[in-house]
Amino acid sequence: MPNIVVLIKQVPDTWSERKLTDGDFTLDREAADAVLDEINERAVEEALQIKEAQGGEVTVLTAGPDRATDAIRKALSMGADKAVHLNDPALHGSDAIQTSYALAAAIGQIEGVELIIAGNEATDGRSGAVPAIIAEYLGIPMLTHMRELKVEGESISGVRETDEGTFDLVAPLPAIVSVTEKINEPRFPSFKGIMAAKKKEVQTLTLADIGVEAETVGVANAMTTVTASVAKPPRTAGEKIADEGNGGDDIAKYLVSQKII
Ligand SMILES: Cc1cc2nc3c(=O)[nH]c(=O)nc-3n(C[C@H](O)[C@H](O)[C@H](O)COP(=O)(O)OP(=O)(O)OC[C@H]3O[C@@H](n4cnc5c(N)ncnc54)[C@H](O)[C@@H]3O)c2cc1C
Repeated sequence: MPNIVVLIKQVPDTWSERKLTDGDFTLDREAADAVLDEINERAVEEALQIKEAQGGEVTVLTAGPDRATDAIRKALSMGADKAVHLNDPALHGSDAIQTSYALAAAIGQIEGVELIIAGNEATDGRSGAVPAIIAEYLGIPMLTHMRELKVEGESISGVRETDEGTFDLVAPLPAIVSVTEKINEPRFPSFKGIMAAKKKEVQTLTLADIGVEAETVGVANAMTTVTASVAKPPRTAGEKIADEGNGGDDIAKYLVSQKII
């Protein structure tokens, strides 16, 4: 009966225009609609399926600003039991190491955690590093890029898929896993789920509550700094080659000129 923590992140909707803040180049979270990252919906779904088969409790945990409560409500309306919201202005602009350090400390406040499920990569930061860094801080095994998971007794197993191929992995619990978009199809919150979510417990924690000093996190103390940013140039029209008998040669010449072959 594992107690599961699901790491969820609110991200700017991929369909809305996203931009960085002038000055410190942190993400301008007010400039775009915010949604629960889709990969995290799948992480919640996986936790719910494990709970439905084996019992236990599903807690969702996020580090984010006030409006991240919307992402929390979505996860709760899917069926998660409770939520922890790490919300402290000093966290603004934290890099992946600082974010993971704070999340690891917050996980330490949740009782009896046997399994932590994250997405393999957040849609905004895209470092794909948070689950591995948390594993290091907590000293527990990590299974990343999982497309299948099975919890049996005191162990977790499953299939990891990367560009190199597939791997069968097994580790003792407690452990942290990250899942890919192949893991499942997340459920839609039902009306009953949405109503029930309004009454579920959301615990808000500050850095002081988790014993993390404000001077160790945030944009001013980050180990990595974004020093400049340039928007991608708009796509230009491709080159058209009309086949008048030597189209193949022309394509090959073009590819050579672009150093593609
Ligand atoms: C433009 C830009 C550039 C950046 N560049 C860097 C950089 O070069 N180096 C750097 O260290 N950081 C950088 N960051 C910051 C980085 O995005 C944050 O540290 C972020 O909170 C965690 O990294 P990630 O989103 O890449 O997470 P990933 O490691 O890609 O996320 C994987 C999973 O971890 C969990 N997770 C991630 N963040 C949270 C959270 N806040 N709460 C709960 N669960 C979470 C989720 O389950 C997520 O699916 C950058 C951010 C932006 C917007």
